[in-house]
This record gives sequence, C-alpha cells and structure tokens, in this order.
Amino acid sequence: MTNSPSAFESLCVIVVEDHDFQRKVAVSYLTQLGLVNILEGFDGRDALVKIADSIQPVDVALCDLDMPGMDGMQFIRHLAEGRLVGSIILVSGLESQLISSVENMASLQGLTVLGTIEKPITPQKIANLLAKFKPAVARIEPAEVSISALEIENGLQNGEFFAHFQPKVDFKTLKLVGVEALARWRHPTKGSVSPAIFIPLAEKSNLINRITRRMIEVSLKQLKDWRDQGFETGVAINLSLSYLGSAGIADQITDEAARLGLEPKVITLEVTESLVTSDLGHVLENLARLRMRGFDISIDDYGTGFSSMQQLSRIPFTELKIDQSFVTGATSRPNMRVILESSLQLSQKLGLRSVAEGVEKEEEWALLKSLGCDVAQGYFIARPMAGDAVPEWHRSWTGGM
Ligand code: C2E
Ligand code: CA
Ligand code: CA
Repeated sequence: MTNSPSAFESLCVIVVEDHDFQRKVAVSYLTQLGLVNILEGFDGRDALVKIADSIQPVDVALCDLDMPGMDGMQFIRHLAEGRLVGSIILVSGLESQLISSVENMASLQGLTVLGTIEKPITPQKIANLLAKFKPAVARIEPAEVSISALEIENGLQNGEFFAHFQPKVDFKTLKLVGVEALARWRHPTKGSVSPAIFIPLAEKSNLINRITRRMIEVSLKQLKDWRDQGFETGVAINLSLSYLGSAGIADQITDEAARLGLEPKVITLEVTESLVTSDLGHVLENLARLRMRGFDISIDDYGTGFSSMQQLSRIPFTELKIDQSFVTGATSRPNMRVILESSLQLSQKLGLRSVAEGVEKEEEWALLKSLGCDVAQGYFIARPMAGDAVPEWHRSWTGGM
C-alpha cells in the first residue's frame, strides 16, 4: 500500500450507494484505510441531507452512478450547484463511454473527479484515488450549508421565501416566451441559501409542499401584477414529485389560477425527470388532469436520468428542458453533443417545445440555434431577477432588437 492509513485520517468521505451490502463494504474499506469521518447515503437525496447536516465539511463523495431515486448524475449536479463537495470518485459497473461522459459533465460543473472505480471496489483502488485529493482553496463554511428543517419551517412562517424569475426567449424571434420562477431563501443570519440545499432537505422533511404552495402563490400573484401593469408573459413553476404525489394538487393549482383570472395556458409546470416516487398513481393523475385543463407540462433536467424514454410515453409533456450540463458541454465535448442532438431530435419527433437551460456563451447560443432548439434560458440572456426588475429588463431587451 502506497499510503499509510494515517494519511487519510483527516478526510471526511460520504459513500453514496443504494445497495446496503456494497455500501457497508465501502465503509469498512475506508475504515481500514484509517478514515474516521465517514458518512453514508442510501441514495442521492439522502446523501444531500447528510451532507447538509454534517458538522465537518465533506471532502470527497464516493458515488455509485447507477442508483434509483435521484440518480448519480442528478446527485453530481446538486453537489456542484450547491458547492457541497469539491471532489468525487465515481463507482460504476457501467460501460466506459458513459462513465467518461459523466466524468466530463462533473468536471465541467466544477467538481474535481479523482477518478472512477470499476466494480468491484478494493481498498487499494480507493487509496490510489484518495491519494490524489487536494483540499479546495476556498472551503465551504459549514454554517453556509448546515440548515435544519426547523429553520425552513421558521423561514416559511416568517415569509423568508420568495421567487426570482429568469427569462426564456425564442431562438428565432428573440421574443420573451415566459419566465421560470426559482425559489430563493434569505436566512436572517446565514444569508442566501441555495435551493440546491434547501429543496432536498424540504423534500426529506415534508416541507416541500409548503414551499411549493408558496412558490405557486407568489408566482401567480406576480403574473397578475405584471398583467395589471400591461406586461403579459407566462410563468414556469418547478413542482417536485413529492408534491405531485398528493391527491387534489391539480385542483389546488387550477383554483389558484382561476381566482386570479389567469388562463392555464400561461402557466408551465416543470417536473424533474426521474420519476421514482411512492405515489406514481397520484403523480400521473395530477399531471394528466393539469394537461387536460390546458397547463403546459415540462420535463425538467432532461438527459440526467436513465429512463427518459419510458417516462415520455407515460406523461403528457408539452416541453422538454435540456439540462444545462449538456448545453455547457456540447461546444467542446463530442459525447455531450451527441446527447444534445438526439434530445433535440426526440423532442421534434414528439412535437414538444425544446428549451435549453444554462446558455451562458454566444457559441452555445449559436450551436443550439443551428440544431433547431426552440427556446433559450441562461446567463447569456439574463440571470434570475426580482419580479419588479423583469418588465424593465424586457424593455431593454426589446429595445436592443
Ligand atoms: P433548475 O430547475 O434546473 O433551475 C435552473 C438552475 O440553473 C437555477 O439555479 C438557475 O439559477 C441556474 N441557471 C440559469 N441559467 C444559468 C446559466 O446560464 N448558467 C448556470 N451555471 N446556471 C444557470 P437555482 O435557482 O440555484 O436552482 C437550482 C435547482 O433548485 C433548480 O434547478 C431546481 O431543481 C431547484 N428549485 C429551485 N426552485 C425550486 C422550486 O420552487 N421548487 C422546486 N421543487 N425546486 C426548485
Ligand atoms: Ca426548472
Ligand atoms: Ca435543470
């Protein structure tokens, strides 16, 4: 063994693996290697909560790629977006082509990929990759990520949650087609907390329904206020599956829209792709009902799950939202571009509107436009902003046309 066990003593590692036995094996190998701070997550969501609750910052995530629930790729995206962990080791039994595109995706998102372990894992394979670990320059302050469910609950009571809105524009006409509402939380002492941290925790602690209701309320109210000012647009709201899994959701949303005099067609409901939920029956019923009433239904983060095709046939989607990791990667990585092209072809064949998220650079805009993508969203167009700022942004956007 090249490293003495004590070399790893100060490292904090989380093992993310759905298979109980394999997770225990990994933990025991890490213990053999001298680690004392080891966390375990039985899937991506569970791991995000454990990381958020950890007193010590987590240095490395040892992550199985093939997991149910929030799959490995989604988990990686959350790690990167929330800047929760700097380095990852992938563990997989999958083919190397796929692994290399996940490695690309992770590093494009700013994570350090220490390497991939092909199953079966051994202490030596882990040690070789852990030896490559270098602490990040700017370490995340534990206070920034350690948020409790109780704090979310208090935050909801004290009205600390609000929405920012990010414009989406048509590639051909450059016209505004709507805005996406994104949840924001200004904590009284910890400042702004990323949704990549509080959404998974809220889902785990049954608070997501209250956050979602708040988001629906503020987003629709904003749409109505804009309309009263003579500014017409549409809004997209993120619905988590745990929310859609409750009975009566379709009626709640319909009633809220009707109360404000808003037609369903100006409202898009974005649903994340990986449909692993305890109550698929209610999810499908709610979505079918919402679609029947004329709401648009968007499949969010397309490309990050493993069973996309199957879900497309089950749910009456009207829009396909391509995950930003494929947009960012497409101009430089052939693998990513293949996924991007095939997603766009699929969406054309199914008659869905395609939206690319995370468009940051002119070359990404140009590529997506040339591939026939319908709608763009990303920093290249505009960052998420307060509701009051949107009409003003729109004036300057159309003024420059
Ligand atoms: P998402 O639904 O995929 O939202 C897009 C995320 O990408 C947003 O991050 C947005 O600020 C960010 N983004 C937009 N354009 C760019 C760009 O050009 N470059 C980069 N690097 N990022 C860009 P945000 O607001 O931090 O949200 C993160 C995730 O949290 C969302 O991803 C969504 O999954 C979840 N989320 C946010 N609000 C809600 C909500 O109200 N309900 C639920 N259930 N989930 C939410
Ligand atoms: Ca979304
Ligand atoms: Ca996304």
